[in-house]
Amino acid sequence: MSDHLVNAYQSLPVSFARGDGCYLWDDAGKQYLDALCGIAVTSLGHNFPPLTAALQEQAASLLHTSNLYTIPWQQQLAERLCAAAGMERVFFGNSGAEANEAAIKLARLHGHARGIESPQIVVMQGAFHGRTMATLSATGNRKVQAGFEPLVGGFVRAPYNDVAAIDAIAGNNRKVAAVLVEPVQGEAGIVIPDAGYLAALRRICDDRGWLLMLDEIQCGMARSGKLFAFEHEGIRPDVMTLAKALGNGVPIGACLTAGPAAGLIRPGHHGSTFGGNPLACRAALVVLEAILDGDLAANAAARGGELRAQLEAAFGDDERVAEIRQLGLLIGVELRDPCGDIVRLALERGLLVNVTAQKVVRVLPPLILDAAQTAELGDRLIDSINAFMDN
Ligand SMILES: *Cc1c(COP(=O)(O)O)cnc(C)c1O
Repeated sequence: MSDHLVNAYQSLPVSFARGDGCYLWDDAGKQYLDALCGIAVTSLGHNFPPLTAALQEQAASLLHTSNLYTIPWQQQLAERLCAAAGMERVFFGNSGAEANEAAIKLARLHGHARGIESPQIVVMQGAFHGRTMATLSATGNRKVQAGFEPLVGGFVRAPYNDVAAIDAIAGNNRKVAAVLVEPVQGEAGIVIPDAGYLAALRRICDDRGWLLMLDEIQCGMARSGKLFAFEHEGIRPDVMTLAKALGNGVPIGACLTAGPAAGLIRPGHHGSTFGGNPLACRAALVVLEAILDGDLAANAAARGGELRAQLEAAFGDDERVAEIRQLGLLIGVELRDPCGDIVRLALERGLLVNVTAQKVVRVLPPLILDAAQTAELGDRLIDSINAFMDN
């Protein structure tokens, strides 16, 4: 622990020297199955050969120019990403929070274009959208906001997975310009809404002229078992934000737009020095191709189903486990009691997971996981949870 780092993280006393595929090795040579992926980032695993090669080649030719000039890698990535998502235009930043900042600015432009002087955005309880001032204000968790008041205004909060609550807002609030929502709430503990929820939000947004803005920063890029989680509902958003797995560890964020949102940003409205630079865009192109070519969405669905079956066999009748939630390789095991200690117990057993919302063991393994590794993950996870509960 360094006295010269701002005390922002309660880091565990383990550091990793290298990684390969689904595994990491610490500086003492101990191996770990990485079932967290740096929080849904390294979906292709560590040291993914085509990415390593592309990064080495790009580093030896060009890291950065500027958005003052044309960046062919950025144009290619925008084309491939839009084709894959059924979207029209992309703005690139460097993180999830920045992608959501772009979405929030778009919603305000959209509101003003519709003659709303002080536009509002509907956001959900339990949501997580980032740590910048606007995105922490949009976040539905007091812990993220406390101490940072005054919050950015213009957000209306509604319970998650509650269509009637959105209908009620639609009935009495003339200032709303957009809805910002996670198709699966990640930080809240892998909270999966009922089938039909996003489709219902889509209909309300269409009726009211609101933008439907989906934060797929954690659930996107094939993790849910579809390339994008909205595909489960057969809809298309007006705005979608991506980051985390988009660069497999190279920082990049994206705000994709379509329909009424696609033409809102004009020169001078928004920008970023690093956003969309050649290195990050080339990395994301490799990532997108690998996910599509390897049909990793299908693999996420299959492996996720296997893991869920294994967990249900172990804990299905256990009173101490409140719920097992799974969509693709987004997995949450909710216990009845706070269970932060499971992180350490899993670490001892060579497994990386984390605990979110105090009671939920969150498992976000690489999408390249095979059947044998899935079984190994399940065994170590069950062992870790049992060690905690039997204590
Ligand atoms: C991680 C996350 C963010 C914030 O991304 P950063 O890259 O940390 O800024 C926003 N939304 C969701 C759903 C996330 O999971």
